[in-house]
Amino acid sequence: MRCSIDLDRPGKREGYVQLNHSNNRHAYGVIPLPIGVIGGDTGPTALLTAGNHGDEYEGIVILQRLFHDLGPDQVQGRIIFMPSLNLPAVREYQRTSPLDGANMNRVFGDPALAGPTRDIAAFVEETLISRADFAIDLHSGGKMCEFSPCGFIYGIGDKEHLQNKIRAAHHFGAKYTAVVEGSQGSLSAAGERAGIVMLSAELGGGRIQRENIEIGYNGTTNTLAGWGLLADSPRETRTTFLRSWFAGSSVMSPVAGAFEPLTNVGQTVHTGEAVGRIHPLDALDKPPVTVCAESGGVVVGQRAQAHVVRGDFLLHLGEEVEESELLKPLN
Ligand SMILES: [Zn+2]
Repeated sequence: MRCSIDLDRPGKREGYVQLNHSNNRHAYGVIPLPIGVIGGDTGPTALLTAGNHGDEYEGIVILQRLFHDLGPDQVQGRIIFMPSLNLPAVREYQRTSPLDGANMNRVFGDPALAGPTRDIAAFVEETLISRADFAIDLHSGGKMCEFSPCGFIYGIGDKEHLQNKIRAAHHFGAKYTAVVEGSQGSLSAAGERAGIVMLSAELGGGRIQRENIEIGYNGTTNTLAGWGLLADSPRETRTTFLRSWFAGSSVMSPVAGAFEPLTNVGQTVHTGEAVGRIHPLDALDKPPVTVCAESGGVVVGQRAQAHVVRGDFLLHLGEEVEESELLKPLN
């Protein structure tokens, strides 16, 4: 894949990464993925990405705005922007790529995979993450899910690495930060492999909500300031950490039907509490099925669409955890 701009020269530039795509339109078709760089020739490098999933537009809005707001004289170091990472999916408002069906956040780090989505991931890992000291990957719930706006970090690595991620999450400053085991093949996993400080975020979902754009914009700039990439000192902000890989943290639908949620994102639920009802679509003689939480916690994310089949995700819970607990080695 060819990048139309020099990423290593000081200044502010925008251009394209050319994803070659031979299809019915042309044998030598190209999909131009937008890329930008701002900065000088000394200091650290941060990579900012969004549009990893093609139906999550909040991060695209934030990175577009930030790229236009910042000039090279405001950046100490270098910031690389790729706001519509999986552009084929973004153009179609789809979570996964219409070209090969792949979920971009599962194809990092596996050279055995092939296809356009894997080509983009390989470019990000080999050309951008390899240049970076820090990275932020902005997500949201897309069409299907709403998240309480929160930071996301992987609860892995040695104590110093974890402390760096904890510090970044505080600077991002969302009310909550989910600490997860992580997914093989994600952009965050690629960042972890490279040993860079990696933060991601979930900024709502469904429709774009203005307050979530502000949380993401202010969080991104304050995190960049905390990393020394902006002239301003970071504001003192705090987050509460939620661990979300315990039994019962994911609530699935037991039957098909119409999901009536009984909770809002960010709300605390208790063990056994009713969190939703599933109403039958094709009969009047059956009562709704009430779904109860097997464990207590904060509703981190919740299904935004009514139609469910058995096994569909309804909500995701996180339990509050002290920072000192996060620094203990995992078994
Ligand atoms: Zn996503």
